[in-house]
Amino acid sequence: MRTVKRHTLPLNQTKLEKLGLVVSAYAKEKQYWLSLLQTKAYRGLIRKHRVIRDQFVKDQYQSVTGLQARMWKLALTDACETMDKYFQSRFDVVKKSIYQKPWSENQKHYAYWLLSDYPRLFSLLDDVVPVFDSKNRTQAIEHHHAKTVINFIRTSLISLLRKQPKINKTRKARSFVLDGSCYHLYQDEVTQTQYLSVMGLEAGKRIVIPLKGQQKVSGTIRIVTDDKVNYRVHVGFDVVANIMPDDAMDIEALDFGYSEVATNQHGKHYGVKLGAMLTKATDDRTDKGRKRNKLRAIANKAFIKGDAHKARNIKNNNLGQVKWKAREQDVKAGIDREINTAFNQIHSKIVVTEDLTHVFSGKDLGSKVNYRLSSWVKGSLRKRSEFKALVKGFDHKTVNAAYTSQTCPACGCVHKNNRKADKFKCTHCAFEGQADQVAAMNLVERAYDREITRYMPHGVVKQALTTRFQRSVEGKLTAGKSSTQQPDCNEQDTRHGAEKALTSAVSRKAKSTKAVSPVHHSVSESLTPNSALVDVGRF
Ligand SMILES: [Zn+2]
Repeated sequence: MRTVKRHTLPLNQTKLEKLGLVVSAYAKEKQYWLSLLQTKAYRGLIRKHRVIRDQFVKDQYQSVTGLQARMWKLALTDACETMDKYFQSRFDVVKKSIYQKPWSENQKHYAYWLLSDYPRLFSLLDDVVPVFDSKNRTQAIEHHHAKTVINFIRTSLISLLRKQPKINKTRKARSFVLDGSCYHLYQDEVTQTQYLSVMGLEAGKRIVIPLKGQQKVSGTIRIVTDDKVNYRVHVGFDVVANIMPDDAMDIEALDFGYSEVATNQHGKHYGVKLGAMLTKATDDRTDKGRKRNKLRAIANKAFIKGDAHKARNIKNNNLGQVKWKAREQDVKAGIDREINTAFNQIHSKIVVTEDLTHVFSGKDLGSKVNYRLSSWVKGSLRKRSEFKALVKGFDHKTVNAAYTSQTCPACGCVHKNNRKADKFKCTHCAFEGQADQVAAMNLVERAYDREITRYMPHGVVKQALTTRFQRSVEGKLTAGKSSTQQPDCNEQDTRHGAEKALTSAVSRKAKSTKAVSPVHHSVSESLTPNSALVDVGRF
């Protein structure tokens, strides 16, 4: 999703007061739901806001803060998102320690499985032992192995819950969410000014906000203020299935390679000279090495024949280390320069890459590239990206890159035959693209993937991707057959959204996405509440 910020024209005192009241009421309402979601009865429903909503509607709930019916529901959804984000971000840490534990694959899989579902997870606190029934695993987990895992997860969970109240205190009232039924956009024919009339606290009385500029406003929007004087409207387009930060348009994923330093999700290449440099350096090195071997053979022959003088001369004059090393140093400096130049051209606020400690994993290293040089490239990329992140102030987010080069961004199909050298062609839906670009498109998705986290083992990633793909295929089949499909709930809805987003991502190819606001947001900040409200039904 790409968020467009629309600023309002100056608002009069009455409007400011009315909007201020909505902001405060919404914050309090959200707080109410956050507290509720921390209770034993509701914590398992974090991803089921509709269940909570339906129950409260049935009980004729009236907003505690005076919000209209439509709006308390939005605040509830918002609160669920917040809680979910809180837990998922903490789970990343838990998953990292699971990954590092000397457990069996099966135990780790069990641990991830426990974390993947809230009711299952919270049942651990009631001394319930969830039975591992993953269909894809024939091997049952032994009781004492399961116990080790459960104890660890339970302890981690208890400590998370203890820290949980903190998410309440830090929240400042600064925004509220509106869906399409809560506002109306119209334009004054004479002045051409756009007006947004939004739902306030009084039924039937909308607050009219004049907007700067002209652009479409649709879907779920967020009215944001930092000081209750200046307001802006955040409009999201192309809703992808996952939560994106406000500055989604400033996100750039880089797929590193050998022909060029990196390719982003729009197909833009950086550091295109790298390939030629590496090939030349490798060829030169092979060539020089061959010549040196010949000379070495001549020197050895001379030595055997008793001509120690000639042998020494060759070794000193033709087989010295100084030039050889200097040349290698030159080559490395050239690579560093190319990588540096590449990073200098990147102006995004958030840069997503695969984990650089084992970059290029699973990639064809190209037999032509000298091994020492390839590890130099990796080291240089790591150092440069860390350095540039500090200097240029972008957020460097590393993600799990497993199968990003084999997954179809359009339909989700994972297959090794999807990629052939630098061409990507989906074996399922025939989506075509340039392989590096496709990998980068998948990296963007990974950045906000709440299921596939950085330390998840390859096998588990594959399983998750396969399940998703199967679900979306099945979903499409049922959607075709049944006309009673709820339009606003579940998977295929978001899946379609994602497809649309990706199609437009491709057509937007190479369109510049320069920073709108100079404010620097950290990823973690953007991922915490208040930034976006998206219905997530993918999992
Ligand atoms: Zn496909």
